[in-house]
Amino acid sequence: MKTNKRQPIVTVLGHVDHGKTSLLDAIRKTQVAEKEAGGITQSIGASQVTTKKGEKVTFIDTPGHAAFSKMRSRGADVADIALLVIAADDGVKPQTKEALKFIKEANIPYIVVATKSDLAPNSLQNLQSQLSKEGVALEKAGGDVPFVAVSAKKEKGIDELLDVIILLSEINEIRADSEGDLEAVVIETRKDKRGPTAALVVRNGSIRVGDDIFTQDEKTRVRSIYDDNEKPVGKISPGEPGLILGFSNPPPVGAKVTKDLSMKVKTEIDKRKGKPSEDGIPVVIKANTQGSLEAIEENLPEKVFVIASGVGDVTESDIFLAKSAMLSSIVGQVQVFSFDSKVPTDVRKMAETEGIKIYEFSIIYEFLQKLDELIKNKEPEVLGKAEILASFDYDNKKVAGCKVLKGVIRKDSRLILERKGEVYSQVGASSMKKEQGAITEAKSGEEFGVIFNPQVDFRIGDMISSVRIQNIGYRK
Ligand code: GDP
Repeated sequence: MKTNKRQPIVTVLGHVDHGKTSLLDAIRKTQVAEKEAGGITQSIGASQVTTKKGEKVTFIDTPGHAAFSKMRSRGADVADIALLVIAADDGVKPQTKEALKFIKEANIPYIVVATKSDLAPNSLQNLQSQLSKEGVALEKAGGDVPFVAVSAKKEKGIDELLDVIILLSEINEIRADSEGDLEAVVIETRKDKRGPTAALVVRNGSIRVGDDIFTQDEKTRVRSIYDDNEKPVGKISPGEPGLILGFSNPPPVGAKVTKDLSMKVKTEIDKRKGKPSEDGIPVVIKANTQGSLEAIEENLPEKVFVIASGVGDVTESDIFLAKSAMLSSIVGQVQVFSFDSKVPTDVRKMAETEGIKIYEFSIIYEFLQKLDELIKNKEPEVLGKAEILASFDYDNKKVAGCKVLKGVIRKDSRLILERKGEVYSQVGASSMKKEQGAITEAKSGEEFGVIFNPQVDFRIGDMISSVRIQNIGYRK
């Protein structure tokens, strides 16, 4: 459970030359304690600031849209809060609008920061009306977007801005669990004399030296970790940035870092584990934790064919995966099994539209029991076998003269026709007769005649299996 408050991760966006870099510099300069003075190190891509009140904030140091959209395009929302920087003397510009669009897409809270207020102290009112035209609902106008005027040059408004950041992070209940599943994002990569390095920001869980982490399905043993002052540390905790050594190849910026294989890799592995079969149950499994996923996977009944499994919410891509597996007709009806994973409303709707059933459980035993039940209902129960010994015409129809070899052949069952050990057709019986009389079943050793529905081109020597009807035919 993400129950502990964690420091917010903040990103800075805005038009070029509007003072993003200067703002970050001013924040660091005004807030960083003396101990670091003089020891200016090269940025690792993110830095932590301890405010005068002792609160920590992590800033992504690479301001600008390219970095932000790169991370977003990889699906990694790293920041909790955005600062939309607008120079008071220049106002809303094209990149301001673009930044606003990005922020809205990312759906994160933001603060409008009017920079260079020393240059145009009287233009703040005008700036605010420009913003309301852009649909920004400022607090002063009854909305929920804070507006803070600062001057990086005069170091004015910086403390106030930090207070607002802390307040916003409290309102938005930014929380994490340092012992929970690892969620981290690569924010910068480099190659130096130590080899490839990657700077990460941890959103949940922790990374310790010696841990195995996965980025883009590549496993890396963490060799060493440096903090944002390039001091070696044993671990990084939620909200903190850190530089990781141990990669054989630098991972791409924006890559998600976990302690678990991704869906993609799992799919590959699972493909090897089982083969889809006519009587198998194809499933996508999602669980809330790695532990429960493992417990489930270890106990899956044999006939379950795992198309994919993973930890986290049931997502649209799980539904897509299920659907595409069905469409590619590798398998029949695919069901999604969730163990304590959330199913967002839009995903639920999508599943409904796509005809994918989502089963949800919070007790492993019930989860497995449901699978057993599905298997049982699906297993074609063979009632008996017969051989076709003769073929003759009756009423313009072809009649197969058969002998029951074992069990019974029932008229109301599905008849599976095999030739030389291969199934070539599944049919019903439109009539069954024994010595001129209509019958509903023939028992072991008996001879009977049957007219198939539909009529198929059977041959003498073909075998017939009589299979209970409700248990077969899940293919759509
Ligand atoms: P960025 O492109 O958004 O990162 O903008 P910079 O931080 O590089 O700033 C662009 C220019 O604006 C630089 O020449 C800065 O010195 C200047 N600048 C930034 N902040 C202030 C400020 O608060 N007051 C004044 N007068 N100039 C500023």
